[in-house]
Amino acid sequence: MIDFELTDEQRAYQALVREFAEKEVRPHVAAYDREERYPVEIVRKMAALGFVGGTVPEAYGGPGLDHLTMAVGIEEMSRVCVHMGSAMGRASGLVGAGLLQFGTEEQKRKYLVPLARGDVFGGTGVTEPHSGTDVAAMETTAVRRGDEYVLNGSKIWISGVGVASWYLTFATLDRARGAKGACAFVVERGFPGFAERPIRNKLAFRPTQVGELVFEECRVPVENRVGAEGDGLRVAMCAVENGRLSVACRAVGLAQGCLDESVRYARQRVVGGQPIARYQLVQAKIADMVLGVESARYLTYRLAWLKTRGVKRARRESSIAKLHATEVAFRAAADAVQIHGAYGASEEYQVGRFLRDAKILQIVEGVNDVHRVLVGEYALGLREDPR
Ligand SMILES: Cc1cc2nc3c(=O)[nH]c(=O)nc-3n(C[C@H](O)[C@H](O)[C@H](O)COP(=O)(O)OP(=O)(O)OC[C@H]3O[C@@H](n4cnc5c(N)ncnc54)[C@H](O)[C@@H]3O)c2cc1C
Repeated sequence: MIDFELTDEQRAYQALVREFAEKEVRPHVAAYDREERYPVEIVRKMAALGFVGGTVPEAYGGPGLDHLTMAVGIEEMSRVCVHMGSAMGRASGLVGAGLLQFGTEEQKRKYLVPLARGDVFGGTGVTEPHSGTDVAAMETTAVRRGDEYVLNGSKIWISGVGVASWYLTFATLDRARGAKGACAFVVERGFPGFAERPIRNKLAFRPTQVGELVFEECRVPVENRVGAEGDGLRVAMCAVENGRLSVACRAVGLAQGCLDESVRYARQRVVGGQPIARYQLVQAKIADMVLGVESARYLTYRLAWLKTRGVKRARRESSIAKLHATEVAFRAAADAVQIHGAYGASEEYQVGRFLRDAKILQIVEGVNDVHRVLVGEYALGLREDPR
């Protein structure tokens, strides 16, 4: 069955998010981007409206949205700010999905419920200085000592530094066994031997405060291990489709934002005695944005629809949606800056920030080069489509 219409509830949710984004986010986004500050006060307001928590069931503090409704909301918010878009899906994405699927009842109550309600912030520490894409090559180790694990190593480029109360993170019991020896843990800020080091002055994604997580003889209680010993990679991987869906939604929203801004600017900017909207090369850029946004939106909604229907694995579709939507977003942002001429470089307009953030969307949740390889491998029969 193919139905391209959103339901009345989904439209109402979309309108609610749009109103919030315009009133509560747009007036502040340039400032918090400049300050490289995660706007906790805005996220708290979103939480009060039930905008964070994504698909986490009500029983665990979330709004229990279906994936498509969540996707529509993230996209809408991301027309203004991809970071507030991200806040809408984190609890059912990389940060919370592992807890929901592998956590004990006690872990869900202690960590997932406050996260999904927006009472606290959490993070996920996967990337290491020497292993980003190659997650299985992690070097952080965990050794069991009585009722504790002792972690040594570090993670880098981790979102949430300075605001997260805890991190879902990963360490191997045996480097030689790599991923097979990996375990997942919740490490709270304040655990002995744990430290955070912020990374400042980033090119982009400035409001998403990132940094390094350092574990030096860091003691983690056994009850904070998520899943069994050796389950670490499964815990990490269970969230990737939701994470890629969130990135794709943010990319579609950002690309739509570029289109909106470009249309507005092209109509009012007069050069050579006529609005630049009259120049065919400007029209061509706008047309490419429309094609990109609409195709990316359908691929993204298809992924969300498959997830809503409960398909177990949508790996191929998640790579296709993430890859296409983020490529579209980057191209749209570059063209939007071009249309704005010098004003594209000004903080007064959104498109410069969009261009910086669009680049990072091509890197997080699996670099686009890897997704391109995966899509090729599926097509060539070199990799089995798990669906
Ligand atoms: C703002 C920001 C926020 C982030 N937040 C988090 C977070 O919260 N948690 C977290 O764990 N990580 C986070 N990351 C890290 C991010 O997920 C990694 O940067 C990403 O996975 C890529 O890893 P890397 O940087 O080590 O790149 P590398 O793995 O070193 O790859 C570098 C380049 O090599 C090429 N390449 C590598 N492998 C392949 C391959 N198999 N096939 C083809 N080409 C390849 C690609 O061109 C790739 O871009 C964040 C990063 C940024 C910038």
